[in-house]
Amino acid sequence: METIIKSAIKGGEFLIKETTFDSIFIPEEWNEEQKMIAQTCYDFLAKEVWPILDKIDAQEEGLMESLMNKAADLGLLGLNIPEEFGGFEKDFVTGMLATETLGAGHSFAVAFAAHTGIGTQPILYYGNDMQKAKYIPKLASGEWKGAYCLTEPGSGSDANSGKTKATLSADGKHYILNGQKMWITNAGFADVFTVFAKIDDDENLSAFIVEKDFGGISLNPEEHKLGIKGSSTRQVFFNDCKVPVENLLSERGNGFKIAVNILNMGRIKLAAAALGAAKVTATKTIQYANERQQFGRSIAKYGAIKYKIAQQAINIYACESALYRATQNIEDAIKSYEADGLSHGKAILKGLEQFAPEAAILKVTGSEVLDYVVDEGVQVYGGMGYSADAPMERAYRDSRINRIFEGTNEINRLLTVDMLLKRAMKGELNLMEPAMKVIQELMSIPDFNEEEQTLFSESKKYIAQAKKAVLLVAGAAAQKLMMDLAKEQEILMNIADMVNDVYLAESLLLRVEKLVAIQGEESAKVQLEMLKVYLFDAMDNIAKNGKDAVCGFADGDDLRMLLLGIKRFTKTSAVNTKNARRIIAEVLINENKYCF
Ligand SMILES: Cc1cc2nc3c(=O)[nH]c(=O)nc-3n(C[C@H](O)[C@H](O)[C@H](O)COP(=O)(O)OP(=O)(O)OC[C@H]3O[C@@H](n4cnc5c(N)ncnc54)[C@H](O)[C@@H]3O)c2cc1C
Repeated sequence: METIIKSAIKGGEFLIKETTFDSIFIPEEWNEEQKMIAQTCYDFLAKEVWPILDKIDAQEEGLMESLMNKAADLGLLGLNIPEEFGGFEKDFVTGMLATETLGAGHSFAVAFAAHTGIGTQPILYYGNDMQKAKYIPKLASGEWKGAYCLTEPGSGSDANSGKTKATLSADGKHYILNGQKMWITNAGFADVFTVFAKIDDDENLSAFIVEKDFGGISLNPEEHKLGIKGSSTRQVFFNDCKVPVENLLSERGNGFKIAVNILNMGRIKLAAAALGAAKVTATKTIQYANERQQFGRSIAKYGAIKYKIAQQAINIYACESALYRATQNIEDAIKSYEADGLSHGKAILKGLEQFAPEAAILKVTGSEVLDYVVDEGVQVYGGMGYSADAPMERAYRDSRINRIFEGTNEINRLLTVDMLLKRAMKGELNLMEPAMKVIQELMSIPDFNEEEQTLFSESKKYIAQAKKAVLLVAGAAAQKLMMDLAKEQEILMNIADMVNDVYLAESLLLRVEKLVAIQGEESAKVQLEMLKVYLFDAMDNIAKNGKDAVCGFADGDDLRMLLLGIKRFTKTSAVNTKNARRIIAEVLINENKYCF
C-alpha cells in the first residue's frame, strides 16, 4: 500500500508537538528499487568484503583501493551525486539505506563512508562550479579517493582550535599550508584532502581543497588501532604545501561552519552504518545460539540467552524507527527548501541543519545500540566470542570507534541539549510555553479518572507524559542554573538521555502504529511486544535520569515537587517483560536471523 507522507515538523519539535503516524516513513515501505540497491550493497559485501576481512585488516597493499574501485564500478560511490557529475542522484532516504547496508562492512564501511561523506561532501556542497566540475566526477567514479583533515594532535573535540596555518604567497597565487593533522581516515591512499586551516591570525578556520600532488605533504605510518584495522588512519603533515588560491573552499573563515554542517550528515549516516552492522551481528548471534549445545540443548532455549537476543532486536528496531523517521523529515525539509528556490545542495545543508538535534540523538543511539549488540554477541558466543577465529571479536573491536568519531558521544549529548535550548531562546522552538503548562499541571489535582485504554492510546499517553517530564526537568534546570547550566554537564547528560529516550520511544510507537494501520494487528504481533518492553524500560530510564538531574540542582520544597512530578509523569502500568521478550526471541530463533 502506497502511503502519502504529510509532514511539516521542524527539528526538535518532537518534544512539544504530537506526531501522527501518517507523517513518518517506516522501513516496511521501501520500494522495489530501494530494496534492489540494498541487495546490491549486501551482495557486494558478501562477495568482495566478508570473505577477505583478515586480508583487509592486515592492510594488504592496494586492497582497500581496489575494493573502493569495485564499489565504484557498481555505482555505489556516486549514489547521491548529481547526474551532471556522473552520479545517480538518488534521494536522501535511498542513500541512507545503502549506507546502512554497507555499514556491516567493517573497515571497508569506514573507508567507504569517509570517501563518500566527509571526503566528497565538502566539495559537493560548498564547492563553486569549477571546483565541483574538476573534483566531483573523479570522486564519484572512484578515480580519486577523498579524505578530510580536521583533527590535530591538540585539537579534537575543540575543532576550531586547530593550529594549521595558511598564508598567502608573495605573488598572491597560492596559500602556503603548514601544520599537522591527526587520525585522518583514508590518508594512506587519498588523492584529494579537504584541509581545515586558519588564514594568518584568523579566529575561524577556512577550508581548502588539497591535491596530494601539490607537494609538501607527508604521511606518518599507519596508526595501530583497537579496531577497524583495515581502515587507513594516518597523520598528515603539510610543509609549505602550495595550494592554488582558487582551491579555497567557500569563503575565508567559513571552514568551521563547513565542518559542522558536514558532521550533521556524518552523524546520521554513522547511525545508519551502525544499524547495518548491528543487524548482521544480531543474525550471527541468533545463529550461534541455535547451533551451540550445552547441557543437552541449544543455548537459544535458555531464558538468559533469549533475553539478550530479544533485547538486541528491540534496540535495533527502535533505532531504525527513529533513523528513518528523521531521514524522511530531512528529505521533506530538503524538498520544501527546494520549492522555496534553494539549490539542491543548499537545501540538503539546510535540511540537515534543521534536524541537527535529531542527527546528534541518532549518532549517540546508533553507536550505543551497536555496542550493546556486539557486547551481548560476544557473550552469547562465550569463549568463542573472545576468539579471533570467530566473528564477534572483530565486531566488538570495530564497533567501539563509533562512540568516538563524528563528535564523541559526550559532545553529541551536550550538543543535543544546547541546540534545543538555543532554539528556544531564539524563539524558534517554543519550549517555554509547554514547560510553564507542565508546572501548572503539577500544581493541579491529578485526574484519577482511569479510562479504558488501548495499547496505542496508553502508549501515547506515556509519551506525552514523558515529554512533560523532560520539559519539567530541563525547564527547572534552566531556570535555576541559568548560564551556569552549561557548566553542569552531568545534568546536561541526564537531560540528553531523557530526550533520546523520548525520541526513540515515540518513533517506535509511531512505526508500530503505522505498521498495524497498513498490515493489520496480526502481522505486527511481535512489534507490539517490542513496543511494550521498550516503553516500560524507557519510562524507567527517564525517571532515573530525571531524578539524578533534579537532585543535582534543587533542594527543599522545590526538589520534593520536582521528584513528585517526575514520578507522576513516568508512571506506567505493569508489563510482563519476561514473556514479551520470550515471544520476540522465539520468532528470531525460529527464523534463525534478525528478521524485522
Ligand atoms: C580511527 C579514527 C578515525 C578518525 N578519522 C578522522 C578523519 O578522517 N578526519 C578527522 O578530521 N578526524 C578524524 N578522527 C578524529 C576524531 O574525530 C576525534 O578523535 C574525535 O573528534 C575526538 O577528539 P580527540 O580524539 O582529540 O578527543 P578529545 O577531544 O581529547 O576528547 C577526549 C575525551 O574528553 C571528552 N571531552 C572533550 N571535550 C569535552 C567537553 N567540552 N566536555 C565534555 N567532555 C569533553 C570527549 O568526549 C572524550 O571522552 C578519527 C579518529 C579516529 C580514532
